[in-house]
Amino acid sequence: MSVTQNTACISVQELFLGLLKNELTQQDAQQVSLHVAHCTHCNTQFENAKHVFYQTEADHISHSPVPEASERTKLLINIAWVFVIAGGFIIGVLLLWDLAVALWFDRSQPIWLRVSLALFYIGFAILFLVVLQQRLMARTSDAYSKMKNK
Ligand SMILES: [Zn+2]
Repeated sequence: MSVTQNTACISVQELFLGLLKNELTQQDAQQVSLHVAHCTHCNTQFENAKHVFYQTEADHISHSPVPEASERTKLLINIAWVFVIAGGFIIGVLLLWDLAVALWFDRSQPIWLRVSLALFYIGFAILFLVVLQQRLMARTSDAYSKMKNK
């Protein structure tokens, strides 16, 4: 295992970017992988190149205008979720409440039905609060990360 830079190393290192970009032929890619696996020097070089490459990619992605659109989409999804949950909650309260109360106070109904109803409403209320809180928190942290990036 040599640590000196020979011509094989140089020609392999020239292919690093191509390999990272997935632009090499299978033969070239195999040659690079094989060399990197056996050459300590090139292995280090490749790790560095990989690091720089993904760092640049990440910078590129975070600065492209695409995430702006997806931020808007996320916000819309959050709003839609709140609407869906609120709508479901209103239906649950107004539409089913009368029925639930009637069943609850109807002493002829079996105890399991009344317990199930109570569980249903307790669970529904918890779910509503948790999801609503999550949605609101997601919105706040989105706005925060958006501001931080500016
Ligand atoms: Zn090498």
